[in-house]
Amino acid sequence: MERRLFGTNGIRGVFNQDLTIEFAVKIAQAIGTFFKGGNILVGYDCRTSSPAIAQAVIAGLASTGCRPIEAGMAPTPTLQYAVKNHSLDGGVVITASHNPPQYNGIKVLGNDGVEISREQEIEIEEIFFEEKLYRASWEKIGQPRKLTNIIEEYNEAIKNHVDVEAIKRKKFRVVLDPGNGTASLTAPKLLRKLGCKVFTINANIDGNFPGRPSEPRPENLGDLCAVVRAVNADFGVAYDGDADRSIFVDENGEVHWGDKTFALIEEWFLRKNPGEKIVTPVSSSRLVLDVAERYGGKVVWTKVGSVVVSHKMKEIGAKLGGEENGGVFYGPHQPVRDGTMTTALILNILAETDKKLSDLLSELPKYFIEKDKVECPNELKKKVLERFRMEIEAEGLKFETIDGAKIWFSDGSSILVRPSGTEPIYRFYAEARTRERAENLVREYKEKISKIVAELS
Ligand code: MG
Repeated sequence: MERRLFGTNGIRGVFNQDLTIEFAVKIAQAIGTFFKGGNILVGYDCRTSSPAIAQAVIAGLASTGCRPIEAGMAPTPTLQYAVKNHSLDGGVVITASHNPPQYNGIKVLGNDGVEISREQEIEIEEIFFEEKLYRASWEKIGQPRKLTNIIEEYNEAIKNHVDVEAIKRKKFRVVLDPGNGTASLTAPKLLRKLGCKVFTINANIDGNFPGRPSEPRPENLGDLCAVVRAVNADFGVAYDGDADRSIFVDENGEVHWGDKTFALIEEWFLRKNPGEKIVTPVSSSRLVLDVAERYGGKVVWTKVGSVVVSHKMKEIGAKLGGEENGGVFYGPHQPVRDGTMTTALILNILAETDKKLSDLLSELPKYFIEKDKVECPNELKKKVLERFRMEIEAEGLKFETIDGAKIWFSDGSSILVRPSGTEPIYRFYAEARTRERAENLVREYKEKISKIVAELS
């Protein structure tokens, strides 16, 4: 049995059940041993357990001779930017992103602020399990230092990537919903500096997330939509708990899913930078491809997961990446998801085009998306996928196998059939020009996978 600590997005668990203070000290010792000294940023999100875990991480890092650089509470992208901006050797972020309040997690950053690679995570896991923890002698123990002002530095950096004067002239009215998370620390200040009239809901920081669930999903954003309409705002935006994802609501109070806003940003970016590469997971909408084809860009598909997108961007030198869940990676700022940066880009687009958000979104090609899942025991997943790929190959279908299997049909529709990385299920994402076609695709492929699972059981 392979021993793993890191999942697709760092280490996650329920505080004091999976993720204890003792564990936090030991994993920090392993992380410090991996870094072999140096200045390591420690920062955290607004969860009730975050300050305690941060103290444990600071102790663990210091014991290995690393100097913990205490950044306090801030959005994950702000902490990532601080690592790069202050030329630190790495970072540890205490966050469970959008998970419920009882969860917390630990994310490790390299010296550019991007999450470390899977190979580096394995190194840390080996140090942890084999207890090869480096213990510095008393005179070499790391002495913590505090970092102040990172929020102002981060907001200033974002302003360098947009047309501040053009945005200011528009005097936009914007409703922000940080979901009681850390976007409260960055987005309202930045937007006021950009001349916006800012309205906020759920902007009191509270690790119990009393306002709405921490994940911005259409069904959680009713209050935001109502306030956008009530105050006649130009748009609204909701963030997840650690402010790396953002979901937008147009001036009519309608929620738009992340791949649509990403397509707008992609279009704006490719108009200015024709021929550039756009990195996105295979689960993204065909919109990303349509926009790239129209403006001469090239789409590079990846496996599902934000860290994969960041690393692919670094590897091929791409400047823009995006996920359907509202994660936009703007490389000129930093190749990681960043909700506040994304908000500034949307303001920039509205200022430059002089159009309403709903109009811009309605100009995009329209697709219907259907999602579903079927059960499949973990030990069968690989065999099921092999058999399925053989079947679709025999049918002569056009497909790719970056993550599961994504089949492209000649009418422009597609289906992604993908084993979940965490649960004993297969997931289906179909996309088509009509709802019936998307529904039929999901039904058809669910049947195919269920049949294979039954045969192999
Ligand atoms: Mg997040």
